[in-house]
Formats: sequence, structure tokens, C-alpha cells
Amino acid sequence: MSAWFASDLHLDPNTPEIARRFIRFLSGPAREARALYLLGDLFEAWVGDDDPEPAHRGVMAAIAALADTGTLVCVMRGNRDFLIGERFCAETGALLLEDPAIVAVGGTRVILTHGDGLCIDDRAYQRLRALVRDPVARAGFRRLSLDQRRRLAGEARAGSRAHLATAPEYITDVNAAAVEALFRSAGASVMVHGHTHRPAVHESAVAGEPARRYVLGDWHATASVLHWDAGGPRLLPCPA
Ligand code: MN
Repeated sequence: MSAWFASDLHLDPNTPEIARRFIRFLSGPAREARALYLLGDLFEAWVGDDDPEPAHRGVMAAIAALADTGTLVCVMRGNRDFLIGERFCAETGALLLEDPAIVAVGGTRVILTHGDGLCIDDRAYQRLRALVRDPVARAGFRRLSLDQRRRLAGEARAGSRAHLATAPEYITDVNAAAVEALFRSAGASVMVHGHTHRPAVHESAVAGEPARRYVLGDWHATASVLHWDAGGPRLLPCPA
């Protein structure tokens, strides 16, 4: 058994080299695995499953080709691609995971989350997150034209960049109490998430037992993925 975990590829038509690396990964190492978990922000922006953007279609075809070989592909929405929906899953053969999700990997219960829900010290961001997760707001956004949705997504990205440039680092990282609460409620001692682009393995104790949190990097600057095989989980540099 083996599984891969990746997040924060932020695929964008303007950075085709990242998509090429990802497609090589999908048609190479990922095929040896039983499962591939994509934990959010696969796309820099996803304005809806009806977007005909050719760069995204190429990635979707590569995911579908991997799923066809029998590798289980699971996709979780991130804060950039929270509009990934059922049509995306039907067209790629991917399974949509709720956030958080608990899966079994090699007999271990593992908590999967994008990670933005743990950044509760960032009040401004959490207000925005609550809005975009609201079903009524989502339905309203989906009714807009593709051009309107693209414009709003662009404005949201600019706002996010400005916010990240000024917010102190601890504010935009996960909150330790939120992490512990998730470990406790899930009854698991391993967690994998992305979002912060600060790849690391964090050891702690929850209810007197060791707990380990793997943070995935993004595919642009801090590139790292998690590979889990018979030897256990290991954080690795992104495939070249
Ligand atoms: Mn994110």
C-alpha cells in the first residue's frame, strides 16, 4: 500500500510549468500508489465546473487518466477552489472529500483538512471563509456569468495578497488550540494539511499520546508532498 498527499499546487494558466510537473507526477509516481489525496488549492482559482479554461481541462484529463488506472483520487476543496463540484468529480473520476475528513491509511486513522479552518486567529479571513462557505452565497455566485465570476475571483486574490503582506505571521498560521481540538474530536493522532505553505512535521501530545501534524508545502516555493508507504509517512520534495 502507498499513498500520496499534495496540496496548494495553485495551478494557473500563467504558470504552465507547475501543471507540467503535476501531470508528470500523475502519469508517473502517482500510478504506483493506491491513493492520491489532493488537499485543496489545486487551482489558483476555480470559478466553476463550467469553466472551459484549456489549461485546467488538461489537468483534469490527467487526473481522469490516473483514476482510470485504479488509483483512488480524492479531492478536497481549498479556499481558492471552493467551487469544485460534482461535475468536476464526474469528469475526473475523483472523489470529493468533506473538510475535515478522516481516512484510513495503512491501518492508521488520519485527519485530512485543507488547514484554513484552523487559522482562527485570522478573524478577517474567517469572516470571509464563513461567507464563501454559505450555500446561499455560493448559489448566488454560481448564477453570475463566467466573466463576472472571474473578475470577482481576481479581486478576491488581490485582497488576499494585500492581507497576507500585512498580517503578522502567527495570525496566518494555525491556532494550536484548534489543532488540538480537531485531534481530540477525530480521535486520531495523525493530521495532514496544507494552506499555510509552511511544510513541516509538528510533534505534540494530545491526551497524553503523541500526535503528529504534517504540513504540506505549495508547488511554487516550498514544494513538498507526503508519501506514505510500508515505512510510514515521509515529507518529500516535490517531484522534479
Ligand atoms: Mn489555501
